[in-house]
Amino acid sequence: MAVKKTKETNTTISEKLEGLFELQNVDSGIDKLQILRGELPLEVSDLEEQIDKLNNHLLDESDNEAKINNLILEQNEKIKNSEALIEKYNKQQMKVRNNREFDAINKELEFQALEIQLANKKITSFESDLEENGGKIKLVKAKIRERKKFLKTKKGELDVIVKSTEKDEAKFNSQKKKISKGIEDRLINIYENLRTTSKNGLAVVQVDRGACGGCFSSITAQHNLNIKLRKDILFCENCGRILVPDDIVE
Ligand SMILES: [Zn+2]
Repeated sequence: MAVKKTKETNTTISEKLEGLFELQNVDSGIDKLQILRGELPLEVSDLEEQIDKLNNHLLDESDNEAKINNLILEQNEKIKNSEALIEKYNKQQMKVRNNREFDAINKELEFQALEIQLANKKITSFESDLEENGGKIKLVKAKIRERKKFLKTKKGELDVIVKSTEKDEAKFNSQKKKISKGIEDRLINIYENLRTTSKNGLAVVQVDRGACGGCFSSITAQHNLNIKLRKDILFCENCGRILVPDDIVE
């Protein structure tokens, strides 16, 4: 708290206004660099999101494929069992002692033959499901490949811009840090809030021929005089931005 108080009392209104104006200029410089990137950051994140969704879709379809393959395996097991039983019954039938036993085994044989028929029918149906599912997987994979190609292009474009502005951005950021240190927290908070609420990121504007440089509404003569005399941190009565005189220098 002691440090804060010293900072506040040691800084004149004029210095505060100059600091805020300087901070605004640096932030506007950073904003311009961001604008250069255009829609690219948004497009990149959008494509990344789409690829994530498609990958999840692909996982679901692959799960489905595994499930169908399991169902086919089950039916093949059933067929094997039935075939083993048929073999057993055929051997038994050769040793029957009467017609009643022969008929009973015959019924079992017929039943197992039907079981095999049913299993084969199910397998045919599962195989058609598998084919359909395979088509879906192919489609999703093609979509993923296409989106990845787009993403690579967009990322490349963004990288070029980011690299070309890297130095300026670093310079602005270190300037911002330095300037911010000289401004009391209360003002920084007001400034940052104004920046987020104003569409063009302008929180501090100069008075321009008797009007607010942010919203262009005219300022009363008294208000204008007080701003010119740097009497206090004064705001635009219309848009709420911090107003600094037109003769201010960083
Ligand atoms: Zn205004």
